[in-house]
Amino acid sequence: MNKKNRIRKLAIMGGTFDPIHMGHLVTAEEVRHEFNVDEVLFVPTGHPPHKSHINMTTCEHRYLMTVLATAANPYFKVSRIEIEREGVTYTIDTIKELKRIYGEDVSLYFITGADAVHKILGWKESAELLQLCDFVAVTRPGYNKEDLMRKVKEINEKYETNIHFLEVPALAISSSDIRKRLMEMKPIKYLVPQEVENYIKKHALYDYKIHLTEDEKACMYDYVASKLSPKRYAHTRGVVEMALEYAKLNGIDYGETFIAALFHDIAKEITPKESLALCEKYEIELDDYERTHIHLAHGKIGAVILQRDWGISKPSILNAIKYHTLGRLNMTDLEKVIYLADMTEEGRSSYKGKEEIKHLAQYNLDRAMYKALVSSYNYITNILKQEAHPIINELIAYYKQFDISEH
Ligand code: ATP
Ligand code: MG
Repeated sequence: MNKKNRIRKLAIMGGTFDPIHMGHLVTAEEVRHEFNVDEVLFVPTGHPPHKSHINMTTCEHRYLMTVLATAANPYFKVSRIEIEREGVTYTIDTIKELKRIYGEDVSLYFITGADAVHKILGWKESAELLQLCDFVAVTRPGYNKEDLMRKVKEINEKYETNIHFLEVPALAISSSDIRKRLMEMKPIKYLVPQEVENYIKKHALYDYKIHLTEDEKACMYDYVASKLSPKRYAHTRGVVEMALEYAKLNGIDYGETFIAALFHDIAKEITPKESLALCEKYEIELDDYERTHIHLAHGKIGAVILQRDWGISKPSILNAIKYHTLGRLNMTDLEKVIYLADMTEEGRSSYKGKEEIKHLAQYNLDRAMYKALVSSYNYITNILKQEAHPIINELIAYYKQFDISEH
């Protein structure tokens, strides 16, 4: 193979590239120059553990954006090996495959940002991985240079490895920040290549309107069914049905409603101990009441799980899941719909006022919210004999203005 003979030094830039940005490109170019490598291979990561069509589309988008971003640099190439591999992708497998493709004698330099260096030892077969290739740890804004150098030195001594340290021109850019900016309608010009910006706009990525195919929906139903008892799954299906009806009548987006309703209780059957652990792990903020009634955190945990396992990060959906149990001030219509559907789905046993709430939710969400909140309050204080979360009183006071029946 021609290629095999030419390439002696290959740098690998792995990442989700969701989307690729100038920070990635500057880093790759700096490594190319400093280490005098023949080629920098960008390797977009493959499927997350739960393979779905939604994530597969994202894979293609991420791949194509990476191609667009790197096309003008003759030293940059993009690889599909992780995208095309079935199941979860591990760096060790990628490195071994690259050795097969490029030949055993090629020197590999795996580029990682300061944030990832700390994690290398936790990667699959890290000891072997550290022997198979060199690592280049690059500085990244927000990370302490001394800390990074210390960590690199520590690993090198302990594992007799070759992790190099490289300072790259600081660009305080991250893909998550770019996604956030897009959601907030802020500009991303000069943070990503123009071609990438054009592509994002053309395909309405990140501030996307969600279109689900029947296959994708079936995938989601299967996933949710696998996480819940049959009884709770039946309730969930009831909430989906009810929420979609309210959404249609109130002019709310179908895809967002479907996902929020389907995933609203995804974390409900997680044990209290595990719930607390997840809150800690994902830095989920809880108030005192939620900490003592940890089951109430299932909305917040559910939102994180949806984002983690399905890559869905649209705030409107996540918030509808987050706030479906307690509600919050300034609820959006979607948040109200999920809250109300949860309280009124067909399978939920009947209570005083249920039919009225159902009726109101079809055309006046605020009036329905008032009735639903009062009903919740009565249930918590009279039947459960508990003190209600303070937010419920605040919300009742706010929604009372919509209750024309009492004026
Ligand atoms: P996210 O915010 O979604 O985590 P990201 O911007 O960190 O995205 P990744 O695709 O996770 O991008 O990053 C791939 C690699 O590029 C990682 O090793 C990461 O540390 C590095 N990297 C990302 N942004 C920068 C930057 N601005 N400067 C230096 N390295 C970076
Ligand atoms: Mg990252």
